Amino acid sequence: MNLILLYTSDFIGPHRVRLDGRRLRHLQEVHRGQVGEHFRVGVLNGLIGQGTLIHLDQHSAELEVRLNQAPPPVLPLRLVMALPRPKMLKRCIETIATLGVKELWLINSYRVDKSYWSTPLLHPERLHEHLLLGLEQSGDTRLPRVEVRKRFKPFVEDELPTLAHNTRALVAHPYNAAPCPAPMDTPTTLAIGPEGGFIAYEVEKLEQAGLQAIHLGPRILRVETAVPVLLSRLFPLPV
Ligand code: SAH
Repeated sequence: MNLILLYTSDFIGPHRVRLDGRRLRHLQEVHRGQVGEHFRVGVLNGLIGQGTLIHLDQHSAELEVRLNQAPPPVLPLRLVMALPRPKMLKRCIETIATLGVKELWLINSYRVDKSYWSTPLLHPERLHEHLLLGLEQSGDTRLPRVEVRKRFKPFVEDELPTLAHNTRALVAHPYNAAPCPAPMDTPTTLAIGPEGGFIAYEVEKLEQAGLQAIHLGPRILRVETAVPVLLSRLFPLPV
């Protein structure tokens, strides 16, 4: 982890935190932390800064923290994703949090295997855990919001048109699509299909909801690859 995420419950004084569990183990085993060393820290949904290790034993670590910087800028994106299989979902959730996406809608689609919906990864505490890993990787503190919609048609007909309204609204689809537009720092709604792709009927429904089909060229990418490629093509690099 490139940033140690802190919760308000970690604070034992105005500038002092005590850590145990996963973060303690990480400090000991990965960082091989020594008293006096500095670490990047940030409060969940708050500021980032520096923590100095002032005490370490097998039960806990204590850091003196100075929090004085804003976390990195976020992407103005609402990402709608057909639910991938669990192994891919885990990687996608972490990558999405790392890349600065703050709103993820996981939806059903014809080619989403029904069994994927019973993965424990969709339990709020498991989602939370993987989102935190993604945030810690990138040095961010702002927890993305995740919405789950198990029925395609009601979502696309009743919710998506409002979500997409007044945004650059796109669906990534390799066929009969326009080339991916140039990077723009503008509110965007982007739909990404399941590993088998959206079926023609679904693309039609997404287009009726106001989304324009765009492609990334003739190579078909895995979902986990399509996500970072699309995001880096659609948004300028923050300076
Ligand atoms: N087998 C499917 C491909 C699915 S790839 C098919 O042939 O349609 C999974 C998802 O990643 C797609 O639904 C799309 O949203 C995105 N994707 C992958 N490669 C893409 C490309 N070249 N252009 C646009 N979207 C792509």
